[in-house]
Amino acid sequence: MTPPPDPPKADVARAPLDTFRYAGRAFALVWQTSPRLTVVFGLLTLVAGVLPAAVAYVGKLIVDAVVLAAGSGDPDHQRAALLYVALEAGIVAALAGAQRGLSVCQSLLRAQLGHRVNVMILEKAVTLDLPQFEDSEFYDKLTRARREASSRPLGLVNKVFGLVQQAISLVTYGALLLQFSGWAVVVLGVAGLPAFFVEAKFSGDAFRLFRWRSPETRQQAYLEVLLAREDYAKEVQTYGLAPLFLGRYRAIFDALYPEDRALTLRRGGWGYALGLLSTATFYGAYAWIVIATVDGRITLGEMTMYLLLFKQGQSAFSSALTSIGGMYEDNLYLSNLYEFLEHPARVRSGTATEGPDPGAGIEFDHVSFVYPGAEAKALDDVSLRIRPGQKLALVGANGSGKTTLIKLLLRLYEPTEGTLRVDGLDAAAWDAEALRQRVSAVYQDYVRYQLKVGENIGVGDLPYLSDEERLRRAADKGMALPFVEDFRAGFDTQLGRWFKDGRELSGGQWQKVAMSRAFMREGADILVLDEPTSAMDAAAEQEVFERVRALAKDQMAIIISHRFSTVRMADHIVVLEDGRVREEGSHEALMARAGLYARLFTLQAAGYR
Ligand code: ADP
Repeated sequence: MTPPPDPPKADVARAPLDTFRYAGRAFALVWQTSPRLTVVFGLLTLVAGVLPAAVAYVGKLIVDAVVLAAGSGDPDHQRAALLYVALEAGIVAALAGAQRGLSVCQSLLRAQLGHRVNVMILEKAVTLDLPQFEDSEFYDKLTRARREASSRPLGLVNKVFGLVQQAISLVTYGALLLQFSGWAVVVLGVAGLPAFFVEAKFSGDAFRLFRWRSPETRQQAYLEVLLAREDYAKEVQTYGLAPLFLGRYRAIFDALYPEDRALTLRRGGWGYALGLLSTATFYGAYAWIVIATVDGRITLGEMTMYLLLFKQGQSAFSSALTSIGGMYEDNLYLSNLYEFLEHPARVRSGTATEGPDPGAGIEFDHVSFVYPGAEAKALDDVSLRIRPGQKLALVGANGSGKTTLIKLLLRLYEPTEGTLRVDGLDAAAWDAEALRQRVSAVYQDYVRYQLKVGENIGVGDLPYLSDEERLRRAADKGMALPFVEDFRAGFDTQLGRWFKDGRELSGGQWQKVAMSRAFMREGADILVLDEPTSAMDAAAEQEVFERVRALAKDQMAIIISHRFSTVRMADHIVVLEDGRVREEGSHEALMARAGLYARLFTLQAAGYR
């Protein structure tokens, strides 16, 4: 278990004050979601608040009329008693109608509000940049916000409305009880108070538990994915990993459960103790009312009414207080939600759509980069330049910084030191979208969209998503066309196994689809290929790069590959080692230098002999 980040004591003391902090925002949210439903909800709440007192009052009228009728035998009194019964039936029916209406409103609001909050969260998520996604604390926030997104805001609003309803009821009960004794009203109130404090405390505890556990629950969710998803099944089964992962899954539960149990037991214990207190209060008041009736100070009808008022008043009070306790929990959820939604998106976009010197291409000028939270530099004082039309190959061992260099170029990260310039202008000054339009990329871990094959390619340039002509051209360049044409449904073939009639491709075929996707963006003049061909056979890789050279004559291309037969075709080769440029030049120049490149090249070539 991770230790609590700060002592929670202050929170508990603040609990009652915090209770209404987010109520306003929750209301605004509900109101924006559906003003009409909110109004109906409010009106029904009013009705449901007033009617119970009316029922109690009519009950008194019935009993008194019955006593009179029985005593006098007057048929008028009997008729009156029956009339009151009919009236009570009517009120009860109306009350039931209001309550049913409230629950219908709640269901409708829940659906709409859940959708709205989820959309808000997703809209926010897409504005985040990569470093934020990689920040585990921030990721926790996102996970917490998404969980319970559909229930919490409405929960808060329900509770506030519920509170209003109980308050209306209590005021009407109090008004009726006042005729009996002011003290009775006081007793009713005081007996419920302890319940409130205990409720507030325990709901605070529960939320903190939930909050600290975020890393564990996330790990559990990940283990579920590992065990239950098809793309992991192959490896999990081959290595027989299921018992290990299941064991860990159980261990997390076993570690967390005792805390749950302790909290639940304490909550239950206190709840029972306070329940006894209110039962005692109730029966004390019962005795008081009985004595008053025997003494002839109140009528039998009044006795019935007061008992009912007392009983209902007490339950209204304690449920109002429970609502307040629960609101605290909802508030805490909402505080987390708003913390997430208000997390500042980094402003990293300039406005420029062109640079002063289009011939300058891309230039890394003494660029260094340290990953957030890391100690070592992933890139260390790298300077290099790619001019329009040039093909640059990056070579280096795993972890030497090749992918990091690409990430900086794509502006997923900012250089820690030094400057990256495009067309002679600092990349930070560029309009992010304008720059993005110029880049096309295939990553090592490209996405296998479980969509149609045409869409898989088309998403490379969204405006042309369904332009068949363009799709064919891109598929041809990426070498996917031959097998796509073999599919019965052609570009409409569903890929992947998640959805009905999905067709799984081989690794090499997926890579060809990813390549075709990159070729969709015909306007792009920067092509990035980060080991896109590792799953293809050597002949296919060779062909891909020959195509890149032939097709992308005016494009700048950056290629990462471990195959030297490919690398040697580049105009310029940069050898990275531990984040630094160790050597650079053409294949011939580097071979002549007889350094690291020449050694690696010869080593690989020997393997093929
Ligand atoms: P290459 O692509 O050459 O295999 P990378 O550029 O991916 O290497 O990695 C360079 C260094 O940066 C490595 O030491 C790696 O551990 C580190 N690194 C890569 N990605 C991250 C990340 N997201 N957070 C922290 N360190 C990272």
